[in-house]
Amino acid sequence: MTEQSPAPSPDDLSAGPADPEHDSTATYALDRSYVDRLTRRVVSTTGSTDAVFSPIGGTPLAHVPQSSAADVTEAFARARRAQASWADTPLDERAAALLRLHDLVLDRQEELIDLVVWESGKARKDAYLEVAHVALTARYYARTAHQHLDTRRVGGMFPVLTRAEVHRVPKGVVGIISPWNYPLTMALCDGLPALLAGNAVVSKPDAQTMLTALLGAELLEEAGLPSGLWQVVAGPGPEVGGAVVAAADYVCFTGSTATGRVIARQCAERLVGCSLELGGKNPMLVLRDADVHRAAEGATRAVFSNAGQLCVSMERLFVADQVYDRFVDAFVSRTQAMTLGASQDWSVDMGSLISQAQLDTVTRHVEDAVAKGARVLTGGRARPDLGPFVFEPTVLEGVSADMECFGKETFGPVVALYRFHGEDEAVDRANDGLYGLNASVWTRDAARGRALARRIRCGTVNVNEAYGATFGSLAAPMGGMRESGLGRRQGAEGIHRYTEAQSVATQRLVPIAPVLGMSEEVNARVMTSALRLLHRLGRA
Ligand code: NAD
Repeated sequence: MTEQSPAPSPDDLSAGPADPEHDSTATYALDRSYVDRLTRRVVSTTGSTDAVFSPIGGTPLAHVPQSSAADVTEAFARARRAQASWADTPLDERAAALLRLHDLVLDRQEELIDLVVWESGKARKDAYLEVAHVALTARYYARTAHQHLDTRRVGGMFPVLTRAEVHRVPKGVVGIISPWNYPLTMALCDGLPALLAGNAVVSKPDAQTMLTALLGAELLEEAGLPSGLWQVVAGPGPEVGGAVVAAADYVCFTGSTATGRVIARQCAERLVGCSLELGGKNPMLVLRDADVHRAAEGATRAVFSNAGQLCVSMERLFVADQVYDRFVDAFVSRTQAMTLGASQDWSVDMGSLISQAQLDTVTRHVEDAVAKGARVLTGGRARPDLGPFVFEPTVLEGVSADMECFGKETFGPVVALYRFHGEDEAVDRANDGLYGLNASVWTRDAARGRALARRIRCGTVNVNEAYGATFGSLAAPMGGMRESGLGRRQGAEGIHRYTEAQSVATQRLVPIAPVLGMSEEVNARVMTSALRLLHRLGRA
């Protein structure tokens, strides 16, 4: 693989990054007044801060104020006050704020991308996709607001006599707990439909990517949201995230399956709803009639986008026997041609992992596989010369069930290649395991690909694309089957989760009870005749 010129790195990586609180010589990557402006938004009275470093050279970025449980309570109180009048704001005005956000994120994309790259170490092109996804989400929900939220007349019990309508009532204050891998889109996108539906939000982003989430909150206010409607708290997941779950009227969580289970239990105890967008071990299938070169190009995006730290990226690649060798040659040579680096430069194809913890997991999975007999076709090594957490895009062959990376999510730039002999076998192996988030099928016969997709137990399946086709189709729900989650983001499901359906039915002329002194027995006969008539008339 080609390499970017070495990124700035700390003098001694083994000693870890400099702590600016104790090292007066430390140089911050970002202007202090800019950081102060952003971090002032955290609801915090503790006086304590958390130091954040960039994966680009370990450069210090900020000290983020930390929230206590009492601060979370205060954030909910402020959000509740703002929500009451927001829910009464006409829907068109709420939608207009989302459209202004759409324009703002496109106008301010350079600033957003810079910050995302500093915080996450990802390639600039991956950061741009976050900007695009926020714009797509804002436009989709703004333009479909009435379709999803207007009061709807539905068939009543008896035609003419019973008038029934369904209202969409906001839940109140939604708690959003988000991960670090897509700091902008994960912090904002799930909140946009919540706001549009008349809710307020208390957001608890991951500690490693607070600044991007705070800039997102600033843009929401600039787009015209009343101040107070979007609160941000910061701190360790179990404590501060736990306090959010304890106070929210609905919880939207994105993160690991292990944490998802904890949150589901807490929500069950309180009888509040939640949506859980969790992990995956996603399969890609290359059928025997696939365009091998297109599939190989797609596979590099499917596997290595965001250095594989993407819930919908592919970690298992099943290839038909007839095209296996040709596909592997094309895929490996494309992988080797990728530019690797940790910098703000657009030329980087694959960026850094975000942290030492991610690097440790990826290294452990690769070393374990190799020790048990897997072959490395390309990659397989950390690259501290390029950045403290950079790991090469890695293709493995000969992975078996006794290896950690066979069934467990690596969440890094590592894929296992498997040969299959028939499509039934491919579907069975794709469906193997605990997860069911995303899949990808490559074939020249799109109709055949769509038919095969229906047999795969995943919440989204892309035909002749990696993940972008479903993820960017905002009208289509996105989420996981099995241990990949509960509920859906995007589409009607993505906004209705933040509402209570309230049905109001009005009865006219006659009650739903015996009339004119009719006995219960006669009433039952009249009712039976009415039911038979409605059936014959084809009524629902
Ligand atoms: P994580 O579960 O450790 O953390 C995610 C968020 O939850 C963070 O904000 C964290 O502070 C918070 N948190 C942690 N413990 C908590 C608790 N007990 N109570 C409340 N909040 C808590 O996840 P991670 O490892 O940081 O993120 C990577 C995982 O996220 C991967 O498994 C990935 O597949 C998944 N993910 C899924 C999607 C999706 O849409 N399905 C998208 C992105 C990431």
